[in-house]
Amino acid sequence: MNPESKVSAEHLKRAAYLYIRQSTLRQVLENTESTQRQYALRRRALSLGWSEEQIIVIDNDLGQSAASKQEREGFQRLVAEVGLGKAGIVMGLEVSRLARNCADWHHLLEICALTHTLILDEDGLYDPGHFNDRLLLGLKGTMSEAELHVLKARLLGGVLSKAERGELKLPLPVGLAYEHDQKVMFDPDQQVQSTLRRFFDTFHRVGSAWATVQAFRKEGLKFPKRGQAGSGEIVWQELTEAMALDTLHNPRYAGTYCFGRSRHWKDAQGKRHSKDLPLEQWRYVLKGAHPGYLTWEQFLANDALLRKNHQVVAGQRSYGTAREGPALLQGLAVCGRCGRMMTVRYHYRQGRLRPEYLCQKDCVEAAQAPCQRIPGGELDEAVGKLLVETVTPLALEVALNVQAEIQTRLEQADLLRRQHVQRAQYEADQAKLRFMRVDPNNRLVADTLERDWNEKLRHLTQVKEEYEKQSQSAAAQLTGEQKAKVIALATDFPKLWNDPKTPDRERKRMAQLLLSDVTLRRDQEIIAQLCFRGGALRELRLAPPKTAWELKKTKPEIIAEIDRLSDQHTEGEIAAILNERGWRSSSGNLFNLRMVQTLRRAYHLQSRFARLQAQGLLTARQIGPMIGAVTGHVKYWRQTGPLKGVRFSEKNEYLYHKPTEAEVREIRCRREKHYPNAHLAPSLL
Ligand SMILES: [Zn+2]
Repeated sequence: MNPESKVSAEHLKRAAYLYIRQSTLRQVLENTESTQRQYALRRRALSLGWSEEQIIVIDNDLGQSAASKQEREGFQRLVAEVGLGKAGIVMGLEVSRLARNCADWHHLLEICALTHTLILDEDGLYDPGHFNDRLLLGLKGTMSEAELHVLKARLLGGVLSKAERGELKLPLPVGLAYEHDQKVMFDPDQQVQSTLRRFFDTFHRVGSAWATVQAFRKEGLKFPKRGQAGSGEIVWQELTEAMALDTLHNPRYAGTYCFGRSRHWKDAQGKRHSKDLPLEQWRYVLKGAHPGYLTWEQFLANDALLRKNHQVVAGQRSYGTAREGPALLQGLAVCGRCGRMMTVRYHYRQGRLRPEYLCQKDCVEAAQAPCQRIPGGELDEAVGKLLVETVTPLALEVALNVQAEIQTRLEQADLLRRQHVQRAQYEADQAKLRFMRVDPNNRLVADTLERDWNEKLRHLTQVKEEYEKQSQSAAAQLTGEQKAKVIALATDFPKLWNDPKTPDRERKRMAQLLLSDVTLRRDQEIIAQLCFRGGALRELRLAPPKTAWELKKTKPEIIAEIDRLSDQHTEGEIAAILNERGWRSSSGNLFNLRMVQTLRRAYHLQSRFARLQAQGLLTARQIGPMIGAVTGHVKYWRQTGPLKGVRFSEKNEYLYHKPTEAEVREIRCRREKHYPNAHLAPSLL
């Protein structure tokens, strides 16, 4: 079919769209030839019958590379115009590359077919409404996508095999630099090196990225950052948490070459995403590939610490501040079994609040029994005692250590700040030199250089002022305030702690100032590990908590005393004696007859009755026949004298010593005197 025959008057009425596309800026600059070819298409359109004014050039996409139309405005405009039926023909060089993926391309073909729009490329003229042409165009699109894929795969393959050998040159973080032969070395700038060393030391000391940032800010230290990509220029900035985290997470500082630390992909909208992968999934890791600021082990330890910090912040520790209530370890107690923070629960017992530490995350979330529960009362007391005991010597020791450490740290910080001044001085000197060397008649250059020199001088003054200010504040901190604070704490602490007027909340606050956490574990006994803020560790071991039965158990010394007193006293008397001596029952009550009785029976102590019987004392029933009287009358003879008895109960019950012969005679004699015929009817008496 003659190509010209595809063009109808209908087509010629509409405009001709010339789509020009170059992906990268370099192509735009260098590949002028293809631009020429694209403009040659314009001549084809003219020869097919379109007029010069009808040709619309779309070249918005110049300098943009994108495999999806969402990012390419020009292509979208083209699709819109075609859809509106404004286009009679669409022209492009290698027309299938109008779109970068098949979906876009088929979409365009579909619209072209619907609106009877022709397509023209260097190979020929197509009508997408015809099956043959459409098939050809579709094939062209598939081919070009395949080509793109192969190209990409080859590129990526090359990159990967280079990366596997550690030869792929990747941008280095600040503090490391490429030598001329591509070897990685420390940044030759001493200030950069020492700042990074200090950064890692500080993190090692304070244990969190945020605290490191605070320390740097407090000491007025700046952190190096690379300026614009590729310029290699170092800019000094305030350290931020993001910078600190980047630095800590970068394995290059541990001398390790890494590739594939994150995954990148595009979503349906063509938006780019990236996700950092966990360490185990990194593609290539070459340890010891170049010098580093820390060892691989240190890097792993830092990583683990950061992850732990993150967990604590994200999942727990939402209750750091001291609240009311006597639980001393609130916000400090950590479960020794699973490592979670423990919560506090209060119980009301005998009119007092008794705290209990509870690891109950599982039991809340998964409806399981709590992991651990540890009663608080005695534990809190023991911890308090330990604090009072340890704080005095500990505080002094810590104070001395801290002072020495601060001193060295201040000196280091001072050195770094001085280097900053030196650098500014050097830059000012250089600017001055440049100004001096220039021909004064060359006003334009001289002015610029003079301005530059002034700028550098201003910067120098500013840096010097900052340096002075920081040094002064650092010196003042060390001498007066800090020492006084530490010493005051050591002397005032026990007094304050033991003062009953000190509220629980304050006591808790003090504990939190001194302790970073307390790990609790309950085995045979309760083990509490106290971790002091200074890093010192102390361990407390407590007897296991008593059961309810044990709590109510009477002290053994009371039982022994009851046993001893039973030889001489009745149970009622014993209760009175115990109360008189100030002894109380386990539940804090006064003793009474019943309690003594119950205790005696519970502990199987011999009754007073049995004790007296064992001593040879006799009952009234036994005595009666001996003195020739009925049982009921024995009492009378005790009351009136001759018989000797010992009371054994509260009911005036007596046991009797065996009467001597003299006593028996006396009784007989008295009876006959008063009642001469009594022997005939002994029951009367
Ligand atoms: Zn637990």
